[in-house]
Amino acid sequence: MGKPVPWGRDHHREFSRRIGKQATLLILVDDLPEQENRVVLDSDLTDSNGIPAPKLIYRYSENTKKMLDFGVERAVELMKAAGAEEVLINPRIREVFHLIGTARMGLNRETSVVSQWGQSHDISNLFIIDGSIFVTGGAANPTSTIQALALRIADHIDRNRRNILK
Ligand SMILES: Cc1cc2nc3c(=O)[nH]c(=O)nc-3n(C[C@H](O)[C@H](O)[C@H](O)COP(=O)(O)OP(=O)(O)OC[C@H]3O[C@@H](n4cnc5c(N)ncnc54)[C@H](O)[C@@H]3O)c2cc1C
Repeated sequence: MGKPVPWGRDHHREFSRRIGKQATLLILVDDLPEQENRVVLDSDLTDSNGIPAPKLIYRYSENTKKMLDFGVERAVELMKAAGAEEVLINPRIREVFHLIGTARMGLNRETSVVSQWGQSHDISNLFIIDGSIFVTGGAANPTSTIQALALRIADHIDRNRRNILK
């Protein structure tokens, strides 16, 4: 887990060696949709109204672990090519998630919740426009894409409102 600066006699020497001379690389990968990773209703936990609470089931897939390993290898190459004297690898996967894809869009109602226009397959006048309709993570921050989807779907609703609301 990295290599902390030691306390005691060597502290100042090690601190001076590192401060202002370090660079950090973070590996972000696109965690592919896995059927086993899902949200279900908890069998025990309920809210104050007795409604079952959501339960998140998530495991790192082999594919995700391999992509992370690949990214770390490339990062080490990059650091060495840049002249790094020492490369420290922190192998810990950090729990930094964007929770998306729980009502994914798609044409097949068996495998998706909404259409490509965010319209529920089951309830025709229900539109969902947020991170839940993503089909993949995209390996990056989602908010700009959520906003783009909101504009696109709002235009669609506006253009087709007579048919949608009848
Ligand atoms: C700490 C942090 C930092 C982040 N930084 C970034 C970043 O730098 N860049 C980026 O792109 N993304 C970032 N994200 C992710 C981004 O904020 C989310 O992906 C995005 O806000 C999700 O939008 P959403 O509309 O799907 O959900 P939300 O923004 O979560 O909106 C859901 C809304 O529904 C409301 N709601 C929930 N239940 C009910 C209910 N029963 N009735 C009525 N309303 C309800 C909630 O109050 C909320 O307003 C960050 C997230 C976190 C937590």
